Amino acid sequence: MIKERLTYTSAQALPSQDRTSPLLMPSPYAIDGGELIGADPRTLDPVSMSQDGRPTSPMKAIRAHCLGCSGGDASEARKCTATGCALWPFRMGRNPFYGMKTAQSEGLELDGEDGGTSA
Ligand code: SF4
Repeated sequence: MIKERLTYTSAQALPSQDRTSPLLMPSPYAIDGGELIGADPRTLDPVSMSQDGRPTSPMKAIRAHCLGCSGGDASEARKCTATGCALWPFRMGRNPFYGMKTAQSEGLELDGEDGGTSA
């Protein structure tokens, strides 16, 4: 059995639950009544965001999420049967579609559809 060190798994483990976290900000929207909301990560310092062990790539983030979803057990993430989950193809931390040209990326129509690009 492959053991994988679990360092950062899920939203529940994030320190953002701390109301003084710099990752939170008062909502600028009146309808929110001053509630704290997540700051826009595009406005935050990436170095400071990464200092708590947070994954710094989408694939690592997906892997961490899947490990969290699987109770921290890498073998359970590997055996995940939720094939309908959007993350399922990526749960092992690799993009199986990398480098693959799809009909969608080629702009080709699929069975009379536009590949999902229109409403
Ligand atoms: S692919 Fe499986 S392990 Fe990953 S988030 Fe979805 S249900 Fe959870």
